[in-house]
Order: sequence, then C-alpha cells, then structure tokens
Amino acid sequence: MKVRIVPSTRDGRHQLLTSYLINDTLAVDAGALAVGLTHEEQKRLRSIVITHAHLDHIISLPLYITDLFDELREPVRLFATPSDFEALKTYIFNFRVWIDWSILKNDHTELLHWVPYEAGQSFEVEGLKVTAIQVSHTVLTHALLVEDETSAVLFTSDTGATDRIWQLASECPKLRAVYIDLSFPAALTELGRVSQHHSVTTLVEELQKIPRTATVYGIHLKPLYRDQIIAEVAALDNPRLVIPEVGKDYHF
Ligand SMILES: [Zn+2]
Ligand SMILES: [Zn+2]
Repeated sequence: MKVRIVPSTRDGRHQLLTSYLINDTLAVDAGALAVGLTHEEQKRLRSIVITHAHLDHIISLPLYITDLFDELREPVRLFATPSDFEALKTYIFNFRVWIDWSILKNDHTELLHWVPYEAGQSFEVEGLKVTAIQVSHTVLTHALLVEDETSAVLFTSDTGATDRIWQLASECPKLRAVYIDLSFPAALTELGRVSQHHSVTTLVEELQKIPRTATVYGIHLKPLYRDQIIAEVAALDNPRLVIPEVGKDYHF
C-alpha cells in the first residue's frame, strides 16, 4: 500500500490541511485535494472517505470537485457519515458559499456520489477494505483501518486518548503503520486535552497501547509547532515513533 500526506503549504513541508492519498485512487479526507495534487492526480482519484467535517479535513472538497467539472464521466465516491454529509450539504454545498449539492452534476454524471458509513462498519473501496472506528474528538470522528491483502495502515484522524481502535489494531497482525494525531508539543498538552488532540506527552502515554508490529507516524502537526515537535520526538529517541515527510510516498 502506498500512502502520501498531501502537501498544503507553499513550502510543501507542512500539513496545514488534512488529506492522505492511498494508491493514487483513494483519499482519506479532503482538506488538501485542491492544493496539493496535480490535475492528473486529481483525475486518478476515485473515492474519498471523510473522517469528520472539521474545516481542515473538508475545505478543498468544493474546489477540487468543480475543477473536474468538464472531465468527469463517473462520479467520485464520497464516503461520509450521515451527520457529516448533512453538514457538507448545509454549510458548504449551498448557493450562499458555493454551488448547491442539488446541481452538482455535468451532462454525463453527478460529480460526487455520497456513500454513507457508520461506526463499526467495514466497506470495500478502491480494492481496499476500510473499517471505521469512532475515536475521541470534539465532534463525531472516525479512525480508519485500511487493509490490502498483505498489510494494513491505521489512520486515527483527530483524537485524544482512546481505546477501541487499539483493540482492533491488536487483532490485526498485518498492521504496519499507525498515522496518529500529534498536533501539539509537550508544553501545549492542556490545549490538546481540551481540543481532543495528542501532544508529544500524551502520545508517549498512548504508545503503550499500540501494537509493536506497527511503526507510529505522527501527523496533523500544527505548522507553527512542527519544528518543536520534531525536536521533542527526536529527544525521545524511540525508533517506533517517526515524523513522516509531507508529500513523500511511503510503502507498506
Ligand atoms: Zn478535527
Ligand atoms: Zn484536523
């Protein structure tokens, strides 16, 4: 399985907005799709799974999809919970801020086709098995366990300390990587607790729960604190914990 953090800042180094590109055809979240992919890459993408509707995870969806208006012959599939789909329709795809969901189509096809999912559910998408597990965030949010025949990668999305995903992870012997929220440096642990994100301090606590077969990739680093977080992680000198490069393909 191939995984890339889609870039979303001018220097390409930081992750301001959240999207992960998997095997060229599947995206987890739509924060960066309109800014960090080439047009050819945008056209190859066929399905998107939304973990929650916070702005950094959905903001480029309307721009991405209308950029493809002339070229789509089949819809891009949009996997989202009923509550997130409702939020997208109400607050984003309306005539006040963009184009209403009801007219999001060209002469050949609807541009986006909504596929609902719920916590605990597994579904097939782009040749992969995806399982959604609710995590601990300020709104309903789902981690995604993504599996092919030989490996599995877990994306926690935005979350603080949680247990159910680690139970599922421990039952998955082919788990190779965990992409886990690491928003804040140690000094902002309290802010992390309130906003339900991990800091370096709480991630170290959470690490005990994560199966040892998996490398743990810290993601969703707030751009302002990226260098500080990298320095703190380096000081831990824990080979299990890695800060991945934005824009680089990782193979599992
Ligand atoms: Zn969030
Ligand atoms: Zn976020």
